Formats: sequence, structure tokens, C-alpha cells
Amino acid sequence: MCDIPNIQKKMLKRNNILKLIKKYKTPLWVYNSDVIIKQIKKLKKFDIIRFAQKSCSNIHILKLMKHYNVKIDAVSLGEIKRAMIAGFEPNNNNIVFTSDILEKKVLKEVIKKKIPVNAGSIDMLKQLGKKSPGHAVWIRINPKFGNGHHIKTNTGGDHSKHGIWNPKQALSIIQKYKLNLIGLHIHIGSGVNIKNLYQVCDSMKKNAIQLNTKIQFISAGGGLKIPYSQEEKEANISDYFNKWNNTKKIISSILKCPIQLEIEPGRFLVGQSGILIAKIYAVKTIKKNTFVLINAGFNDLIRPALYGSYHQITVLYKNIKNIHNIPIIRSVIAGPLCESGDVFTVKDTGIILPRNLPKVSPGDYIIIHNTGAYGSSMSSNYNSRPFIPEILYKKKKFKLIRRRQTIQEMLSLETSL
Ligand SMILES: *Cc1c(COP(=O)(O)O)cnc(C)c1O
Repeated sequence: MCDIPNIQKKMLKRNNILKLIKKYKTPLWVYNSDVIIKQIKKLKKFDIIRFAQKSCSNIHILKLMKHYNVKIDAVSLGEIKRAMIAGFEPNNNNIVFTSDILEKKVLKEVIKKKIPVNAGSIDMLKQLGKKSPGHAVWIRINPKFGNGHHIKTNTGGDHSKHGIWNPKQALSIIQKYKLNLIGLHIHIGSGVNIKNLYQVCDSMKKNAIQLNTKIQFISAGGGLKIPYSQEEKEANISDYFNKWNNTKKIISSILKCPIQLEIEPGRFLVGQSGILIAKIYAVKTIKKNTFVLINAGFNDLIRPALYGSYHQITVLYKNIKNIHNIPIIRSVIAGPLCESGDVFTVKDTGIILPRNLPKVSPGDYIIIHNTGAYGSSMSSNYNSRPFIPEILYKKKKFKLIRRRQTIQEMLSLETSL
């Protein structure tokens, strides 16, 4: 059985959560701003922190980032719009657009708003260069190796679609179209072991020296791991920073120009801030397996179904009068979807993995922890289930930051033709 992570104890007082459930119903997401702020502070030695908003793109979360001087990465037109609505001025390097393609509408917008483009393909550079000479660009380098918590989140090497394999060729296109190269960027994957992240420093150094052209920024990318289970430890940020800071100094002295060091985390800033609260509707025993069925599915949180990811799970009893000497039951926590893969307790192979949890009944609640990153932002309407609300805990108050989608809203794209 798991305890509530320490970092969340203040927010997760029983009465707090029961009140939220009463007001907003289940399922719902809750984020703790104290956790986000604490994580931002751990990275404050880096010259620039750039939030990879795809991990948690609610506009109110972006506003919080902005308040703490965190800049923003956008990977789509929708994410550019979110950043602007949150108050990020598009010029001045506040927003960087990172992608491997430049769709027509995005191309128009980055030109109009002078948003620097972090290019992951040579074609992007050509398309931008033809329309917008002088435009600020980064080269996203594929360092020829990658890593991640899952093969699907590895973004380097020859199996990955990301980044530019031949930075020299990119540089010649940049010069041909008179684009303005401002930075070099390497992101090798998400949920990466720190040892593998160290390799990126060497690759950055090698590439910067080979290209031998003045730049203003280098970006270490994202990828920092967070502890999902109580056995896992947090990465040692101070070693990581020192290694990168040295790399920056070496590049700066060889290229003879001042350089700012960026880091681009998603998961690290928001992962541990979030929980998903769901209600238990049925408990059934099928041979040896006890299935605890809740009203959140992989349409809400897809990480276990997609990657076999582990999330801590705790129980919140509706009634605490009779909760002494509760037996521990090997339980499989599963959702409402019409698909057998809709399970939250799985091995990385996708096979169900029962977990020791105190005995529960319909009407009790399940809390799935560390769901702040790649939770809500990866949700879908599968099985025609609407998006669920998001709540932000800030200055000891809970604030609704996204209301529940209605079924009518969900269907309106088809009914309003
Ligand atoms: C997803 C992504 C990140 C963030 O990755 P995390 O593992 O969440 O830190 C950073 N940069 C780029 C380009 C990304 O695609």
C-alpha cells in the first residue's frame, strides 16, 4: 500500500478533497501550485527555464509559469495561441516554436509574430527562409542517440523522427536564405536517466565547435525524470547544472561570444503537482482478480495504457467511521471504457498487475498521483466521454481552471453543421 507523497500532504487533507468532490464531482484533476513553484526554484541557476507546455497546457498553468519568469515552448498553433492568451509576448524569445514540420497556418503566425523557430528538419528551414529572411532560428540537432522512459518517448537516434541529422547542411541552408541562427538545441527524450542526459553535453560541445558559428543560446532540452514510485529518487540537479554550465563556458570561449543556457522541462515542473480523483462504482471478483472499477479511463490518463507507466494510487474513503483493520486486497484498478486495456495497474508489457490496496466499496474514491504531466494534456474524447475539470490549488485555495466539457459541446462539431 502506498502513502500519499509527502510533497502533497498539505493539499490532500481529507476534507479539502471531499469538498472538491462535492462541488465539482468526479473525475477531476487537481494541481498544486506549491509543488510547481518548488520545482521551478530547483532550476533557477539555468539562465532560462522554458516550459514544454505539451506536458500540461492549461492557460492558467502557463500564467503561473510566466509569473515565475519561466518562458514557453510551443509545438503547435494551438500551443502558440495558448501562450499568447496566457500573456507571453511572442517576440523577444518568450515563445519558441519547436517542430519537425511547418504547417501553412503556423508558418504565417510565426512570421507575423516574429516567433523564433526551433527547426527539426531541413525542409522547415527552406520553407521559412523563402518567406522570412532574417527570421530567428534554432537548429534542433539529433545527436544520433536517444533515451526515455519508453521507446515511444525516445527522441534521438536513427529510429526517431526528431531533429536534424546533419547540422552542417542545416547551417548552409540557413546561410543561403539569410536566416538568423540564434541557438542549438538537443532533446533526446522524455523520462531520461541523468547519466544519458550527461552525454548530451558532449554532443552539444562537439556540434557547436564543428559548426563554428556565433550563437546566443544553447538548450539542454527537457527529459528530466521524476520519482513516480517511492523507491525512485529525484535527479541531482546541481551536478546536472554544473556539467551544462561548464559546457556553456567552453562553447562560449571557443566561439568567442556570450551564450545563455536554457533548459526545457515539462514533466519535471508539473508531474508531481497533479492528481486524478475518481470514484469507485463497482468492485468485482473474476477468479483470482479483484477489479476496482472507477469513472476515469485512459481517455483521461493514458500513460499506464500507452507506456505501462506506474502511478502511485491511494484510497479516499467516503466514510471513515469503520475503517479500522481493513484487509489489504490485491486489486486491479480499471476504468469505464469499452476496451480491456483500460487499466491503471499494469506491467510495462501491458499485462495487468494487481496492487495491494485496502479493501474498498462502491462510493469510495481512488486518487492517482503524479499525474500533472502528460495527464490532462493527453486526454481524448474516446468512448464519447467529455473532458473533465481541472482545479489549481494556490495560496491555500482551490480554483477551477477548466470546467467540465458538456456532452452537447462535445457533439456540437457534428450537430452544428
Ligand atoms: C516533450 C519535450 C520536452 C519536455 O520533455 P519532458 O520529459 O517533459 O521534460 C522538451 N523539449 C521538447 C522539444 C519536447 O518535445
